[in-house]
Amino acid sequence: MDFKYVPTTCPYCGTGCSFNLVVVDGKVVGTAPFQRSPVNEGRVCPKGSYAHEFVNAPDRLKTPMIKKDGKFVEASWDEALDLVAEKFAHYKGEQSSVICCARASNEDNYALQKFGRCVMQTPNIDHCARLCHASTVAGLAQIFGSGAMTNSVSDLADTNCAFIIGSNNFEAHPLAGRRLMQAKKKGARIIVCDPRRTPTAKQAHLHIQHYSGTDIALLNGMMQYILQNGWENKDFIEKRTVGYEEFKKNVMQEKYSLENVSKITGVPVEDIKTACQWIHEAEKTTAVYTLGITQHTVGVDNVRSVGFLQMLTGNMGKPGTGVNPLRGQNNVQGACDMGALPNVFPGYQKVTDEAAVKKFEDAWGCKMPAKIGLTIPEMLDTFADEPEKLKCLYLMGENPIISDPDIAHVDKALKNIEFLVVQDIFLTETAEYADVVLPAVCYAEKDGTQTNTERRVQRWRKALDGPGESKYDWQIIAELAAKMGMGDKFPWANASEVFDEMAALTPQYCGMNYERIEKEGLQWPCPTCDHPGTKVLHCETFNGMPEGKSVFAPIEHRPPAEQTDADYPFILTTGATIWHWPSGTMTRRSESLNRDCPTGWIEINEEDAAEMGIETGDIVTAYSRRGEVDVPARKTPDIKKGVMFMPFHFWECRANWITNTPYDPVSKTPEYKACAINVKKKEA
Ligand code: SF4
Repeated sequence: MDFKYVPTTCPYCGTGCSFNLVVVDGKVVGTAPFQRSPVNEGRVCPKGSYAHEFVNAPDRLKTPMIKKDGKFVEASWDEALDLVAEKFAHYKGEQSSVICCARASNEDNYALQKFGRCVMQTPNIDHCARLCHASTVAGLAQIFGSGAMTNSVSDLADTNCAFIIGSNNFEAHPLAGRRLMQAKKKGARIIVCDPRRTPTAKQAHLHIQHYSGTDIALLNGMMQYILQNGWENKDFIEKRTVGYEEFKKNVMQEKYSLENVSKITGVPVEDIKTACQWIHEAEKTTAVYTLGITQHTVGVDNVRSVGFLQMLTGNMGKPGTGVNPLRGQNNVQGACDMGALPNVFPGYQKVTDEAAVKKFEDAWGCKMPAKIGLTIPEMLDTFADEPEKLKCLYLMGENPIISDPDIAHVDKALKNIEFLVVQDIFLTETAEYADVVLPAVCYAEKDGTQTNTERRVQRWRKALDGPGESKYDWQIIAELAAKMGMGDKFPWANASEVFDEMAALTPQYCGMNYERIEKEGLQWPCPTCDHPGTKVLHCETFNGMPEGKSVFAPIEHRPPAEQTDADYPFILTTGATIWHWPSGTMTRRSESLNRDCPTGWIEINEEDAAEMGIETGDIVTAYSRRGEVDVPARKTPDIKKGVMFMPFHFWECRANWITNTPYDPVSKTPEYKACAINVKKKEA
C-alpha cells in the first residue's frame, strides 16, 4: 500500500488553514492535522475536515465538451481549443470579457488576467471579489493606501476588545473565530453587531442587534459619544491623520445623537454607550468585519466608517488592533493581488497609469488595453440589455447563476452571450449555459499558491493526478494562447515558473519564491529576498497615502436602495452556514457536509411567524419585486422582528431569486444584505 501525507491549504474560506491530505494508493481518503500552521495550529472546521470528499465525486469533468444542437458532446483538447481560439480571434477586444476565480490559485489567476489583456486584448476582467470584498479593497485603499487586512489572524487572540460588525465568523471563518475566542478566554470583551443572534453573537458579552443597512448611523453615533466623552486618541489623530475637523463636524450633528441613532438602528442607547465604554477601557481593540459591512450600496462608506472608529481611538498599527476584514473565498485576496480586476494590473498597479502600462507592455511584449474595463455586474447588465456590445465570456471557476443577485437577470444575461467558455472542475449550473466546457484539476491535484485574508501566501501541493484528461488551469490558458499564436508569452513549464514571473512584476510579492514560502508561507508586503514578510501594516506610516497619513472624511447614513412597504414588509439578509461554501459546487458534493445540512431555509422571527401562522418546517414562498422561491421556514427568536435570513448556497432554494441588483457606486458590490420581501405559507 502506498500511503502519504501531503500538506496543503484549505480550498474554502479566506482564513487559509493548512492540513494534510491523506493519500492511499493514489486516492485521497481524508485529511489530517498539520501542526506547523501559524494560522490554525492544526485545527480545521467541518469544511476543512471533509475537503477531500468532493475531489472523488463521480461527476468530476474529465474531458472537454462542445455543445452541439443544444447538447454537450465530448471532444479532444485539440478540437475544443481550436474552436475556442477561432471564436476568440473573431471578437474585437472590448466585445470580450474574462471572469477569473477566487478559488483558483495565484498562478491560474495571473495566467488568465494576462491572457485577457494580452491575447483577448480586453480590459473587461473581474472576479467574485466584486460580489464580496470589493468594498474593502476600495474603502481601505482610500483611507489607508492599502485595501488589505491590517493585522494577522493570530493576533486577533491578543486583543483586549473585539468589535465585530457584520461578521458571523463562527460559521463563515471558524478558525479566525477561534482566535477571537482565545482572546475572550484571556479576558477580552467581545462586542458583536448583527441583525441576527448568530452563533458568533451568542459568544459575545454584548450583542448590538441593529437593522440591516444602518451601520453608518450606528458607527457615527458611537463616534459622537466617544468624542463627547473625550475618549478620542488625540495624539494619533494629530500625527497620523488628515481631514479630522470635517469628519468631526459631521459626526457631531444632532441626527447622530444616541437617541436618534437608537431610532434608526433599533438598538437601545445603553448598549451603544456600553460598546463605546468598553472600547475606551481596552488597551487594544480590534475591528473585525465581513460581508455584513461590504454587501451594501454604501459598502465602501461602511468600510471607511469602521476604519474611522479605529483611527479615532488610535487602534491602528499595533498587534491586537487594526481593521480586519475576513476575506471570503480561499484566494480572493490573491486574485485581487494578481490583477484579476478591471482597473489594476498585478500588485494594484493602475491600468490608467502610463508607467504601469509601459512596465507590463515591456514585460509581456504586447500592447495593453489601457483603460478601466467592466465589472461583473456591468458585464451582466451589458449581456442582458446591450448584447451587441459584449459578446463573449471566458469564465473560470465561478457560478453566477447561483451567486449573483436577481437570478432572472443573470439567466437573461447568460442566454444572451454569443460565445461562452467555462473552465471548471464540475459541470456547474452556469456551465450548462456554455458553448465549450474545459475540464480543470482541483486544488488537491496541482502545485500552486493562494493568499489568505492576512496576506499570507501559502502552498498547494499536488497529492494525486486529476481525473481523465483534466489539466492545470494555467496550462489550459497557455495552450490556448499557443493556439492563438502567442505561446511564446506563456512559456511556463510548471507553476513555480508562473509564480516567479508574477513575483518579478508584483512589488508586494517581489521577495517570494516557492522555496521561501515552503514552510509557513510569507505575508506581503515582502519586497526583498531577505524580508521576513509583514504581520501588521501601517505601524509607522500609511504607505501610499499623501504624507503617509490616513484620511478622515464626513460620511452620512443612507438607507438601503429598497425600502420595506405594505406589499414587501420584511428586510431580507443573506449569508453563510458553517456546512457549505458559496454556490455549493464543492461542499454539496461532500457526503458528510450534505448529511448535516441537506438544504436551505428562511429564518423568520418567531413573533412574525406566529402572526402569519407559519411553523418551522412549513414551506413558504418568499417573494420580492424580482421573483419568488419556495423554501422551508425556521422560526426563531434569534433574528430581529421584521428581518429574515436565507443562506445563499442552495440551488433548489436560491436566495438570489429575490435579492436586489443595485450596487455600491464605487466598488460595484451588490446589496445582498438588504432588500424588501414578503412570505406566504404555501398551501399543501
Ligand atoms: Fe477551511 Fe476556513 Fe474552515 Fe479553515 S476555517 S478549515 S480555511 S473553511
